[in-house]
Amino acid sequence: MKTAPFGHGSETHCADTEPRPQGAVCHGFSVSSPARAIVQCKLPMKLLIVEDETKTASFLKRGFSEAGFVVTVAPDGIEGMHQIETATFDLIVLDIMLPGMDGWQLLSWLRARGLQTPVLILTARDSVSDRVRGLEVGADDYLIKPFAFSELLARVRTVLRRPPVRESTILRVGDLELDIAGHRATRAGHRLDLTAKEFTLLSLLVRRAGEVLTRTFIAESVWDIHSGGDTNVVDVSVRRLRGKVDDPFANKLVRTVRGVGYVLENPERS
Ligand code: CA
Repeated sequence: MKTAPFGHGSETHCADTEPRPQGAVCHGFSVSSPARAIVQCKLPMKLLIVEDETKTASFLKRGFSEAGFVVTVAPDGIEGMHQIETATFDLIVLDIMLPGMDGWQLLSWLRARGLQTPVLILTARDSVSDRVRGLEVGADDYLIKPFAFSELLARVRTVLRRPPVRESTILRVGDLELDIAGHRATRAGHRLDLTAKEFTLLSLLVRRAGEVLTRTFIAESVWDIHSGGDTNVVDVSVRRLRGKVDDPFANKLVRTVRGVGYVLENPERS
């Protein structure tokens, strides 16, 4: 890893209560007046760093802490998942090569749950296909190791400056409507009574509407079942889901692709 100074230059820490100079940078926000700085500094930005290399993790923790962030480190994907389930973060810095559950799996799981926490992938893998995959799976940015900390910090701030509403939380396919934030699903205006897992499964299918998803991919994303585990749970759950989403309606949205998996699409679309 390239070394970069940890100093925060002209930036101002948010722990102090003194008026800040014009243009002070506070946790990713460039502020134009001391008054605004004080408002924005009430809640420090919380970062989750998922990184298994101890040296890199402590380097990042120290750097971001000095820049005024509140930092939590998870040494593997499972712990990352646990942290995400128990706390709220403003941004996740995610390594890809992790023991147990890798960065791709963690990111797919996160997005399948409808969580829009910005994710910056930090990885030694640098092929174009990896980069494309990262952005497709729902990463907000991608930085290759070795990196300069100053560049990582700049990118984190850029991602955090983006407007918080990054996509509509209402997803629609035909007359099926999913309110991701509110965990509500309706068809033709009728509320669907779904379990938490069914909602996660449906939101995965809706997010990737028109795309055939393999049983393995669905099992990994929704149930965290990996490497050849029993994907029977997928078939059973899709059957139950269809009972609620499709059976009462003439227009069937969930289609089986024999030998592969499932796709959700609106056959009446064209
Ligand atoms: Ca790693």
